[in-house]
Amino acid sequence: MSSQRPKRLAILGATGSIGQNTLAVIEKFPDIYQVESLAGGTNIQLLNHQIQKFHPKRVCVLDEHHAIGLKKMVQQPLEILFGASGYEQIASDTNIDMVVSAIVGAAGLMPTIAAIRSGKDVALANKETLVMAGEIVMREIKKNNVRLLPVDSEHSAIFQCLEGHQKNDLRQILLTASGGPFRNRDFSTFKTIQPKDALNHPTWNMGQKITIDSATLMNKGLEVIEAHFLFNVPASDIQVIVHPQSIVHSMVAYHDGSIIAQLGIPDMKGAIAYALSYPNRLPLNQPTPNFFDIQSLNFYEPDLKKFPCLSLAYEACSQGKTFPAVLNAANEIAVAAFLHNQIGFMDIPRWIEKALTHHTPENTTDLDRIVEADQWARNIVKRWINTNDERNCIYI
Ligand code: NAD
Ligand code: MG
Repeated sequence: MSSQRPKRLAILGATGSIGQNTLAVIEKFPDIYQVESLAGGTNIQLLNHQIQKFHPKRVCVLDEHHAIGLKKMVQQPLEILFGASGYEQIASDTNIDMVVSAIVGAAGLMPTIAAIRSGKDVALANKETLVMAGEIVMREIKKNNVRLLPVDSEHSAIFQCLEGHQKNDLRQILLTASGGPFRNRDFSTFKTIQPKDALNHPTWNMGQKITIDSATLMNKGLEVIEAHFLFNVPASDIQVIVHPQSIVHSMVAYHDGSIIAQLGIPDMKGAIAYALSYPNRLPLNQPTPNFFDIQSLNFYEPDLKKFPCLSLAYEACSQGKTFPAVLNAANEIAVAAFLHNQIGFMDIPRWIEKALTHHTPENTTDLDRIVEADQWARNIVKRWINTNDERNCIYI
């Protein structure tokens, strides 16, 4: 790291799992990183705690109600913004060097684009941004000459395995998946899966939405699409491999038959630190995997009958256009409904498939078309779920 001034960061989604892990990394390197701004959603207690510790100049919360609540808690002078325009303002602030994009879901898209368009490097955790608008995001990255550094552990691994190699030597990306909590569960019992069962991830500790996505394997499906855009590789050259220990974070196969893998313990701090410090490595002092304790690493083919979300994502990726945005939006609505006990676990892929089937695709060169497709899918899946009667569906 150079002896320059600290890198000034804006952290979007600061109160979430990735946000908190990012602050845990930053806390160890006060001379290297400075928290310029923090954005959370509704957890203003935690945000206040982070404000006291990291002294940002600006913060943003979901709405005015939470902004007023936060203002009452905070003693020091602080600019408090709220809502969509607030997040975009935080992301495009001229005083920022890098934006950590760690809002969950489609809400992360616009602030991430705002960051890129205003010339900021982005450490990207919010995979939904690339799934929805990968073409536009990658175009804007090039146009604005900024870096998009993956925080998703698999993509960080792939990025590291590609370093120092030629793109045209690459044969295949091998994307590892833990397999989630239901890898060994009998398929006949999937009907009875409850949110609490699905929220019990075997290796990673994450936010609720991504934990459910990991249980359906939609997380891996979203990651296939994320890798497709990030590394400009067709979905047919991205193979998902179930690896329950989550030690091999992903691999890259080259045309000469060599495979390069990146390994580490399942802790997001490693990938976050690499995105923050690239091309350097921070002395994080994370433990390395103890191979004598682990003894064996296992690899399996994903079971697409049990986890149809993965096939749906591959299909949406191959079809392109606005299909991935619809897949993502339908998934967000279905996952929220599952978490509220409105639908069963296997209804998640059912509603997503139905949304994809009824979607009229548009090109994705225009952000408005993507937002429209996202809204269409949200509205129709909500309506299907609320009426819960397929015969009464009106397909618009
Ligand atoms: P989380 O639910 O723990 O945190 C989400 C954050 O976003 C919170 O700060 C929340 O307040 C904020 N937020 C939620 N809705 C918002 C809205 N409408 N507007 C503004 N802010 C909002 O989620 P997470 O697990 O930290 O995941 C964040 C992103 O990182 C997701 O896209 C996820 O797929 C990705 N990711 C997470 C992990 C992980 O280990 N948690 C790993 C890889 C990728
Ligand atoms: Mg991941």
